[in-house]
Amino acid sequence: MGNRQLAQRDQSVIWHPCTQMKDHECQAVTPIRCGQGVWLEDFDGKRYLDAISSWWVNLFGHANPYINAALRGQLERLEHVLLAGFTHEPAVNLAERLLELAPVGLSRCFYADNGSSAVEVALKMSFHYWRNGGQLQKTRFITLENSYHGETLGALAVGDVDLYKKTYAPLLMEVITAPSPDCYHREPGESWEAYSSRRFLELEHILAEHADEICAVIVEPLVQCAGSMRMYDPIYLSLLREACDRFGVHLIADEIAVGFGRTGTLFACEQAGITPDFLCLSKGLTGGYLPLSAVLTSDTIYRAFYADYTTQKAFLHSHSYTGNALACTAGLASLDLFGKEDVLNRNRELARLMGDAAAPFADHPHVAEVRQTGMILAIELVKDKLAREPYDWRERRGLAVYRHGLERGVLLRPLGDVVYFMPPYVITPEEIDLMAEVAFEGIELATT
Ligand code: PMP
Repeated sequence: MGNRQLAQRDQSVIWHPCTQMKDHECQAVTPIRCGQGVWLEDFDGKRYLDAISSWWVNLFGHANPYINAALRGQLERLEHVLLAGFTHEPAVNLAERLLELAPVGLSRCFYADNGSSAVEVALKMSFHYWRNGGQLQKTRFITLENSYHGETLGALAVGDVDLYKKTYAPLLMEVITAPSPDCYHREPGESWEAYSSRRFLELEHILAEHADEICAVIVEPLVQCAGSMRMYDPIYLSLLREACDRFGVHLIADEIAVGFGRTGTLFACEQAGITPDFLCLSKGLTGGYLPLSAVLTSDTIYRAFYADYTTQKAFLHSHSYTGNALACTAGLASLDLFGKEDVLNRNRELARLMGDAAAPFADHPHVAEVRQTGMILAIELVKDKLAREPYDWRERRGLAVYRHGLERGVLLRPLGDVVYFMPPYVITPEEIDLMAEVAFEGIELATT
């Protein structure tokens, strides 16, 4: 079997995610036969450096020997059992470990099976908490401009990326959208901290006006990933936590993309020294192996649901694969690797190397900004550097970078015209240089 045959069979039966299928008339899908570390290999033996961790999930490389061994062991014991009325060791162990590592004050772990579902859980739990306490007027959510929280209808409703949301607007609950703290828009010479603080005042205003009807504010801490890897200062989270307490509103931290070390700390919230009321985790939770998500919350929230059955206060939400035993095992093995290898320290050096490798991009005539938070680095392409005028989206400049990357064996998948690196933590300095070199060539090609 070669690439061509599998791509053809794929074309006849599979409808791919996040894809205009007609695009595949010009460019076939890339069939992957195996993976090893940061590398993926196709059926013709060509290798691709996975610079985006396969949609931000992979932490310790593909086919990681340690995670593989853990999974093999678990496979012999138990693959799955429903988590209602039953439990198993991997689910309990993982909940204990997550709660130990998470910001202080989170003491309960509710499992689901993908990121969007975790967001749905957090939204429903917040709403239901207030309802159980008799606060029936609290029915609305505040979200940030340019945010992204998933594709199911509730998660989509609290997101703000038009590309995904606009078509479905008539189906979605109404939310209040606050200005984003995204520092791309700061004034020349203004610090990230000053800009994010200034933007916070507008959210505070909204809270002052609407707190009575608001269940929660939902944010992606520090980096709005699907919203073009836009970044902001931790001060925003500190101010937000204080205001949520002051106004009696929950704070939902969606760390589905930024959790597990991407921003430099295990959880992004740590950089602001805050504990959210709900912490949503997925993606890196299993090291990129299997679908799983978790919502961590506090005892205060948990207690509001704890009552005699007939009071009808229980949280009756469920997904079939909730807390899957194999997925939890992968999660435990992935956490072991954090402990074994002092990953966060090593990542500091890798992040520095990524920053150095990407520094020359800043002088490119069509790069408006190179920004970085920990292991996430983004390069924003524009038509006019001085005016920061974007390219017409129909020109699909980012797609040209993607195609060049594939040709040269580097999987870059720009978000519109934003090229970014979010590699697995096992990337080497030489591979960082290769990733940057190919991105640079791609940007040159795409902008001339
Ligand atoms: N929240 C954030 C911040 C995300 O980046 C994503 C996925 N890109 C999701 C939620 C949704 O996760 P999933 O794709 O697993 O549903």
